[in-house]
Amino acid sequence: MTDTEAAATIVAADAIAVLGIDVGGSSVKHLLARADASTARPPEPLARGRNATPKSAPVDGLAAIVEAVRGDRRLTRLVLSIPGIVDEARGIVVRSTNIPALDGCALGDRLEAELGIPVDVINDGHAAAVAEASWGAGAGVDDVFVLALGTGIAGAHVVGGRVVPGAHGSAGELGHITIDPSGSVCSCGRRGCLETIIGAPALRAAWAEAGGSGGTESLFAAHTDGHAAAKRVVEHAASALAEAILTLCALVDPGCIVIGGGLAQAPHHLVTLAARFVAERATFHRIPPIVPATLGEWAGANGTVLTALLRQGTLV
Ligand SMILES: [Zn+2]
Repeated sequence: MTDTEAAATIVAADAIAVLGIDVGGSSVKHLLARADASTARPPEPLARGRNATPKSAPVDGLAAIVEAVRGDRRLTRLVLSIPGIVDEARGIVVRSTNIPALDGCALGDRLEAELGIPVDVINDGHAAAVAEASWGAGAGVDDVFVLALGTGIAGAHVVGGRVVPGAHGSAGELGHITIDPSGSVCSCGRRGCLETIIGAPALRAAWAEAGGSGGTESLFAAHTDGHAAAKRVVEHAASALAEAILTLCALVDPGCIVIGGGLAQAPHHLVTLAARFVAERATFHRIPPIVPATLGEWAGANGTVLTALLRQGTLV
């Protein structure tokens, strides 16, 4: 092969790509990767960037972003992640609180018609979970459960790089297992769900009730400083999380539990304390490593690229 031919081969490989787009409430992140990239590790991006979310005309706005990013390259697959309820099998956004213009939108079909390429639409939590499981804190383990702790509690069981959806697409809702049957009313209508104890609003309320001021960052800072009331609030939350994890281990027996989301940020108060309680309380359970997530805000975009690489050549 001459140098010119070798250069042409490199250009040709770069010219066939997959595109992953993580659509957030305020910004849209994109990652472009070679279509022949390995799924064993995060690919070196051909392009990566961020745009404001096109909230008023999202389909046209997203199509314009795709056109601008792909340039002259041929895309083998486009995967988008959306915050909200997504019918992943049909590519329909059922409901998105952050981008109401997408409610009921057959986003996959519309972008396929506009762009002429296969398009998948997935839930943003699922995207972040597959990335953490395969390329982040769960890398090297085939069976990973990923939890995201924030305003709500999201969960996803990822096996072999794919989310196990359950028969109706709603598996993994660990935030709504009952911890205290006589506890507070949850957003789901039941009482005492995990979310009513360790969701960010619940933690803020517990901290205020204990005499603290400020949000969860102030709570965790006071906990670090050894503040007695903060210690009680954080230990109560970690205890509830530990009970949920023990239930999870009894049901699913994952090889690794990855905990991310805003409440799991360094120095990982809830994660480390919950892991200690789990170890103390386990009986027959096989307790896997319980580790903080590592990919941060690019987890979702990485998950869309991984999904695109895995699904190339299928459902075309
Ligand atoms: Zn609930």
